[in-house]
Amino acid sequence: MHEMSIAQSIVDIVEKELVSHGVEQLKAVNIAVGKWAAVVPEQLAFCFSIVTADTNMAGATLNIKEVPLGYTCSACGEEFASGEMAIVCPKCGDTNITLTNGRELTIESIEVAD
Ligand SMILES: [Zn+2]
Repeated sequence: MHEMSIAQSIVDIVEKELVSHGVEQLKAVNIAVGKWAAVVPEQLAFCFSIVTADTNMAGATLNIKEVPLGYTCSACGEEFASGEMAIVCPKCGDTNITLTNGRELTIESIEVAD
């Protein structure tokens, strides 16, 4: 499952952070997922709970924020966001646009127990 390997890589990164800061208990992980990353938030949260079940991260919450698709027009330089796959620039109508935001999955912050 796609989400399972993503959950595992999130856990790997978070674990390194916890170790480097000497923190033992994790409360929550806040991530941002682009709409184009093809991730089902519910499935990712479910996989996260499975991967963390036998670790010191058990019970931690995975908060997932969806990032809208962002584009840049090569013709006029316009940057715009779209909820759907865009094909033309809303400013100049050119079709030479590039998807610049929405593919990524980033860990924005980690919340730890006091
Ligand atoms: Zn344009």
